[in-house]
Amino acid sequence: MLSRSKLLRSAHLKILRSRLITSCFKSVSTFMEISGDEAMKTSHKQVNMPSVIHQREYKYAEGKVYHGFRCERVEHISDFELTSFTLRHEGTGTELWHIDRNDANKVFSISFRTTPFDSTGLPHILEHLVLCGSKKYPVRDPFFKMLNRSVATFMNAMTGPDYTIYPFSTMNEMDYRNLQHIYLDAVFRPNLTYLDFLQEGWRLENEDIHDQSTPIVIKGVVYNEMKGAFSENAQVFGQNLLNNILPDHTYGHVSGGNPLEIPNLSHIELVDFHRKYYHPSNSRIYSYGLLDLSKTLAILDNEYLSEQSCIDNSFSLTPQQERWVQPRNVHIFSRLDNMGATIDRQNQIAIALLMCDATNIQENFELQVLSEILIRGPNSVLYKNIIEPNFSGGYNQSTGYLSDTKDTAFVVGLQDIRVENFTKFIELFDKTISKAMNDGFESQHVESVLHNLELSLKHQSPYFGNTLLFNSTALWNHEGDIVSNLRVSEMISRLRARISQNKSYFQDKIKQYLVNNNHRLTLTMSPDGLYEKTFKVAELEQLNQKLKALNTEMLEKIYENAFMLDAFQKAKPNSDVLPCLTINDVIDPPKRPKIFIQSIQNVQTQICKVSTNDITYFKCLFNITGLSQEETMLLPLFCNVISVMGTSKYNYRELDKLILSKTGGIDFKFNLIEDVKDAKSYWLSVMMTTHALDKNIPDMFGLCQELIHNFRFDDLDRLKMLIQNYISNMSVGVASSGHLYAMLGATALVSNAGKLKSLLSGVDHIEFMKNFVQNTNMVEVGDKLRLIGTKLFNKSNLRGAINCTESYFPLAVSHYRNFLEALPSFEKNKKSSKIHFYDPSCQHYVMNIPVNYCAKAFFAAPYMHQDHPTLRVLAKLLSAKYLLPVVREQNGAYGAGAKISTDGIFSFYSYRDPHSSKTLHVFEKTYDWLRSERQMIDEQSIFEAKLGVLSQLDSPIAPGNIGVDYFLYEVSPEYFEKYRSRMLSVTIEDLQDAIEKYFRKPSSHYGKCILGPANKHLDLETSKKWKIIV
Ligand SMILES: [Zn+2]
Repeated sequence: MLSRSKLLRSAHLKILRSRLITSCFKSVSTFMEISGDEAMKTSHKQVNMPSVIHQREYKYAEGKVYHGFRCERVEHISDFELTSFTLRHEGTGTELWHIDRNDANKVFSISFRTTPFDSTGLPHILEHLVLCGSKKYPVRDPFFKMLNRSVATFMNAMTGPDYTIYPFSTMNEMDYRNLQHIYLDAVFRPNLTYLDFLQEGWRLENEDIHDQSTPIVIKGVVYNEMKGAFSENAQVFGQNLLNNILPDHTYGHVSGGNPLEIPNLSHIELVDFHRKYYHPSNSRIYSYGLLDLSKTLAILDNEYLSEQSCIDNSFSLTPQQERWVQPRNVHIFSRLDNMGATIDRQNQIAIALLMCDATNIQENFELQVLSEILIRGPNSVLYKNIIEPNFSGGYNQSTGYLSDTKDTAFVVGLQDIRVENFTKFIELFDKTISKAMNDGFESQHVESVLHNLELSLKHQSPYFGNTLLFNSTALWNHEGDIVSNLRVSEMISRLRARISQNKSYFQDKIKQYLVNNNHRLTLTMSPDGLYEKTFKVAELEQLNQKLKALNTEMLEKIYENAFMLDAFQKAKPNSDVLPCLTINDVIDPPKRPKIFIQSIQNVQTQICKVSTNDITYFKCLFNITGLSQEETMLLPLFCNVISVMGTSKYNYRELDKLILSKTGGIDFKFNLIEDVKDAKSYWLSVMMTTHALDKNIPDMFGLCQELIHNFRFDDLDRLKMLIQNYISNMSVGVASSGHLYAMLGATALVSNAGKLKSLLSGVDHIEFMKNFVQNTNMVEVGDKLRLIGTKLFNKSNLRGAINCTESYFPLAVSHYRNFLEALPSFEKNKKSSKIHFYDPSCQHYVMNIPVNYCAKAFFAAPYMHQDHPTLRVLAKLLSAKYLLPVVREQNGAYGAGAKISTDGIFSFYSYRDPHSSKTLHVFEKTYDWLRSERQMIDEQSIFEAKLGVLSQLDSPIAPGNIGVDYFLYEVSPEYFEKYRSRMLSVTIEDLQDAIEKYFRKPSSHYGKCILGPANKHLDLETSKKWKIIV
């Protein structure tokens, strides 16, 4: 799920995977595991740099047939320097969209239009079952198995509201072909066995399968997954919004599955659905990057399509929603969130208006721009009139332009709002919209939104091919013109022309779509103290219905099935049939541009000259010294608000306009970094990051300078509002990233540095901020923040980094010099703090959710220690061979794994887990498993684990981000290569040594942490004393 801010920031490059998509927890994480949190957040920011293709001769010409595919359309799109080929298989009508682009990160995907007609989660369960083995690859969960046999940069399967998509990307050609075979066989020839259905979908089973007297309960992977998904209020709200604004056809249902309806699905219905919907005629295939398309075409035609006929796929089309004659109101209930705001404020409201057909691309584009103009930032009217009066916790996660469906929608919603303010919100919304219709917008504001859009076209993202796919999927699914939709510059010019011809262009649109539109839904949501109980009663009622229908014979069958399933899960997987890369395929490290260090104005500056598409990227790292404990605790808030409070020269509205119209934003972020050599000390820093078109570089440095010199925190009303929104937004993410919070919580028990990390970004931080705000007046808060700024921004505390095109470099440096010259400078005092370790302890954050997130962390060895690469390989091996099979496949958690971070902390985790002490016990038994399964640690399994690590080490990086790890951790690119080759040369003996050294005896510094429901037996079940935090 993407954050709201991101949602609002990217008008055109709209949201990859909106809140409506049920995505499986399988994506490959990144490069250096900074901290768990970081890795997750940055995973999609880094990419390879695609460069310009000059005068290429193309083999594929319109009208010609290649391996059964007729080439229908060829177009060059200069905005992205790509050539688009649309081909259609003559026998089946399957459409194949190939994007030729000079980008090493190749993408492949196959998708189907899957329109559910109930909420049993059929398409979602089918998505899982398809990945349980196929004719050629009868291996369960080939994705998880392939994670360690490939160097994929992305591998996933997702169920959207009316489509199911299977995408992957990799930089390795061999890997690409391997994965392509697996994906195609999985979707076209899956085994779809009954046992798989029981495991992945739902089943009745004795609580303890070995004891027939224990009660029968409902189990199943998707069943649990959706219970977990619906434990997040933001998700419940988003799902209900979709179901209610488009109620008549497929969007009226929950494609992921409503836990109360999942048990109505039968295996046979699922098999029938597959036969009908996974027909090649109902599929769409995407390929992207520098690769030989003819190989793909040949495989498809020879192995899967040539024997199939063409069927009419119109049965899966979603019709347009019939427009309402009058607006509707719907109220729903949510779970009480004990991490959230006070109970009287835990309500949400949204107004959603149906827009236009998704296939009307220019209209949709313009409406998206309009929605940005209305919603985003302090110069937009809705922000001014609805957010600034500060009667809520800010926009909720559903806010924005919803474009994943056949009809698009415009949504504005608030979180953490009192029920008595619902009417106020509606009145303010209507008043603001009607005022905008009459008065129009300030042209400078419109320009800044358009500039930002144009800049985003130039900005290179490392997963461009993936992004392009996700942004096109819904439109393609509705048979829209995906090729023309890429001509963004043309759409912008068309829009500019229309605005200049008709001064009231946007006003007319507002009138048509926002004022005279009866298809309007007002959705409200309030917490219900009995929510969980009501659900449990309904669940029990359903279970009783099922049980009533059982006779002795069926009961016996249930008991037998459980044994069969158990044996099936524990059987050794025959992964050998899966293809695997060899060492020769991956021995060479990816070529990365060189990094230089230069002293400029006595400031250590890192330079990377690289093709950046006329953008200069600038980073500035301020080491922090001399902050008090409380000031340190306020650093995250400081970073969050400094660039949105204005300066002494510009108020915050003017500043926002300037930043948007000249740069891609100026962001501040704090870092806590442990010494990667010995983990004996740590230091704190704040990094400022920005980028701009080369021609705007003087302005970019000017704005940075203005912020650093003239920041202000004296608008106390604004500060108060920003802090409240900050706290509200933080608590929204806890349930969806629970494993990261659990790992942070466990790390907090290991050392003082870990403790500080959790206080600065974990669950503890939310609590700290709530208390702090309650007990401190705003004048004091403002003063404290100001003081942090005066201590922080200091030339002698600073390192800089510039990534830009070679030809622009001299100019960039001269502007950088001016920037440095003007910075204040006082005595250098780079000081780090000592790390000390704690005695073992356990902590349970009690949350009102039906699933657990468990973690155990202990100190092992930091990044530059010789054992680190070995432990990293071991973590991969444990995840693949031990934790996933036991915690996920046997015990029903949605995800599980182990990792070691640069700070030397080795962590185990589980995700959306029905168990807690049972999972912790699995973590505890690691050494026993390693001993008893010694034979499993063979050359092949070690090599697979190495590949898993490699896919992180070698993942693509965006030109603007090259060298960022060096910059933060001061680990040189040469050391990084040494680390890589040492990792590749880890032997069985190295692993055995590490196992004895780190796992035989419990570490003297470890912590365990659970986020999940209350459990009064925890002490007894784990023989440990738990600290309970409610
Ligand atoms: Zn799933």
